[in-house]
Amino acid sequence: QHIIEAREVVLSFGQTPALRGANVAVDAGEIIAIMGPSGSGKSTLLHCLAGILVPDSGEIHFDGSRVDTRTETERSTLRRDHFGFVFQFGQLVPELTAEENVALPLLLAGTRRNDALREARLWFERLGLDGLERRRSGELSGGQAQRVALARGLVARPKILFADEPTGSLDTLTGEQVMELLVAAAREQGTTVVIVTHEARVAASADRHIMVRDGKVTSLVPDRVPS
Ligand code: ADP
Ligand code: ADP
Repeated sequence: QHIIEAREVVLSFGQTPALRGANVAVDAGEIIAIMGPSGSGKSTLLHCLAGILVPDSGEIHFDGSRVDTRTETERSTLRRDHFGFVFQFGQLVPELTAEENVALPLLLAGTRRNDALREARLWFERLGLDGLERRRSGELSGGQAQRVALARGLVARPKILFADEPTGSLDTLTGEQVMELLVAAAREQGTTVVIVTHEARVAASADRHIMVRDGKVTSLVPDRVPS
């Protein structure tokens, strides 16, 4: 049983085709890296899988039921309840402290503030962020901010974590550390991870990688990354 699947997904932005019949199926607990050249459709595929974008044609299935036919409100609820997100530039809310940023998904899901903050703080030690709980994003290094963003992506224990170039704004060493933390934390809580990256080193810690070229997935066959 696949936890999430794209079937023959087609999507254009005006005259620009982004996806031309993309197929991918992800198993529960799997860490999959979507690779491919810039402009090939990786982010668009991730946004379709995550219910952010709706394909022009084709189908998206999550946990055995169809997502692309749902309303915007239903998809938004689905994202809030089951998905976590990490993007290239942390996109932390600058007015909030680091711990408030991490607590955000819990607060949006209705958890009481004190409980949400307590849960959020557990992530700081785990990710080597001790003492940074009250900092604002402007007072964090790039690597620290991405780790805070990672904690925010995982704090609500999502079924799937969607990560779009999560190390793209970091130097190689810092990026590797963030990726290691991401993989370790996801495996520990059994979270499925769909990660877009063009860095081979980032993809290497995934269980499987697929290639997107010209809006199509070119390697559908499970293609184990050599360790
Ligand atoms: P990748 O993630 O592989 O770099 P994208 O999925 O971001 O590729 O983009 C695929 C194609 O769709 C590209 O040609 C890109 O320019 C185009 N595209 C992506 N997003 C938009 C948008 N919001 N508006 C117009 N064109 C877009
Ligand atoms: P790109 O992949 O082109 O670099 P991003 O990944 O940073 O762009 O963001 C892509 C789009 O996804 C943005 O337009 C943003 O509005 C949207 N987005 C980001 N996070 C969420 C979310 N949690 N729910 C819905 N939409 C989101």
